[in-house]
Amino acid sequence: MTDQTVDVAIVGSGFAGLGAAVKLAEAGRGDFVILEKGESVGGTWRDNTYPGCACDVQSHLYSFSFAPNPDWTRTFARQPEIRAYLESIADRYGLRDRLRFGREITGMEWDGSRWAVSSADGSVVHARAVVWGTGPLHLPSTPDIEGLEDFRGTAFHSSRWNHDHDLRGRRVAVIGTGASAIQFVPQIQREVGSLTLFQRTAPWVLPKPDREIPAVLRSLYRAFPAAQRVQRSLVYARNEMLVGGFLKPARMKVIEGFARAYLDRKFADRPDLKAKLTPDFTIGCKRILMSNDYYSALKQPNVDVVTDGIVRVTEKGVVTADGIEHEVDTIIFGTGFRVGEGMGEVAVTGRDGVKLADVWADGPQAHLGTTVAGFPNLFLMIGPNTGLGHSSMVFMIESQTSFIVDALRLLDAHGATALDTRRDRQDAFNAEIQKRLEGSVWNSGGCKSWYLDASGNNRTVWPGYTFDYRRRTRKVNPADHELVA
Ligand code: NAP
Repeated sequence: MTDQTVDVAIVGSGFAGLGAAVKLAEAGRGDFVILEKGESVGGTWRDNTYPGCACDVQSHLYSFSFAPNPDWTRTFARQPEIRAYLESIADRYGLRDRLRFGREITGMEWDGSRWAVSSADGSVVHARAVVWGTGPLHLPSTPDIEGLEDFRGTAFHSSRWNHDHDLRGRRVAVIGTGASAIQFVPQIQREVGSLTLFQRTAPWVLPKPDREIPAVLRSLYRAFPAAQRVQRSLVYARNEMLVGGFLKPARMKVIEGFARAYLDRKFADRPDLKAKLTPDFTIGCKRILMSNDYYSALKQPNVDVVTDGIVRVTEKGVVTADGIEHEVDTIIFGTGFRVGEGMGEVAVTGRDGVKLADVWADGPQAHLGTTVAGFPNLFLMIGPNTGLGHSSMVFMIESQTSFIVDALRLLDAHGATALDTRRDRQDAFNAEIQKRLEGSVWNSGGCKSWYLDASGNNRTVWPGYTFDYRRRTRKVNPADHELVA
């Protein structure tokens, strides 16, 4: 495998990688490659093929502003449509010849002027800058439950759905009740023999205002793109109104009231289930879920909701703390992702031999969720504290791409080799972010979520309005960085 030298190496070809590629090309910076571990584009929308997989952000907003799709068939698009959209972006923007599939990155090293980006296949790409676009949802998290290796049936994670395994008539265990599980549970409930749902924490669930977009409206969007832009802006503005509630949890009571009313309505005849499914934390502390069929599915006679903790797995099934062995043929893990470990096991060595794993030993921190002091010309997409509970990550991705394009412009304007963030500015930024998070619903809503790390720090969420993030990333503030000659 031969080495290659390019100006920019982009890692990942989901929304982040493709979005960055389009904007780099548009800025006249076509000397890049996109390194992708899989065999096709789409990122998490390629990996997640579980039944019912769909977006919980409105499609008009969950798409690139520069590539509106008038053909979305539903308010909340489903996975095949989103994946097809990303494939169409690769075609429409001529990215195919830049894509290198089967390149799983194992390490990156800064040699003083370039990054050497190594892949598992032995190839190395040398690049002045790296855009790390693997996102937080690509490393499945499967709990290390005692005895799992002894299980004689079939077990898989929701993001690695085993489509060869016929679920019809089987006894199925589902572990987890997050955004993924509430989408596939109603789909598989109809065909399985029995479904035992292991719930550790009851989530808040709201009805999903998901509708088909009528053909006449789609024609309108095709004929008058401005109409779709107006629609997008309305959705954006409505979502931003939630931010005030996230920061001042008392205001979340209104939304919690809706969710309680939904529970009351759905379980008027099943107080036993209602008690199990009523959350004990303020809504918004964990991601707010939306579904129109989850609660109905749980009321079906072939479903059992188990709230006793799982202690181990045996050859035949799952044993809970009350000593009951729940015999099953299949275990499906809807247990989420190793969020915050987007770099996974990749060994990243920056200036002076500093290892990112050491710098991040107490949790990931970056400047504006994008750059890390000591790691020049490395740009993280959806880095620390850029996650949202209320709006579209594509908006954040587009903000970051402006920042990256401006950083490269700045380098060229000064004839500099590298841009390295000043440690004091990064620390000040993080202190500000953590201050803003104090008292927010994520930090004080009374739940344990993956928004918080083991030390209770929130390294996940952007604590404010997305337009504020956009303002701050529109241009690089030279005072925040050192330009290395
Ligand atoms: P998740 O939200 O992290 O949920 C994981 C679930 O597994 C939780 O119910 C968790 O319980 C449970 N769990 C984890 N470890 C467990 C263990 N050892 N024993 C028992 N239960 C365990 O994961 P996800 O549902 O896959 O969703 C991940 C993220 O993907 C979402 O938050 C969202 O950002 C994204 N997503 C988005 C969409 C979309 O429409 N845009 C759709 C699906 C997913 P606890 O609550 O007790 O921790």
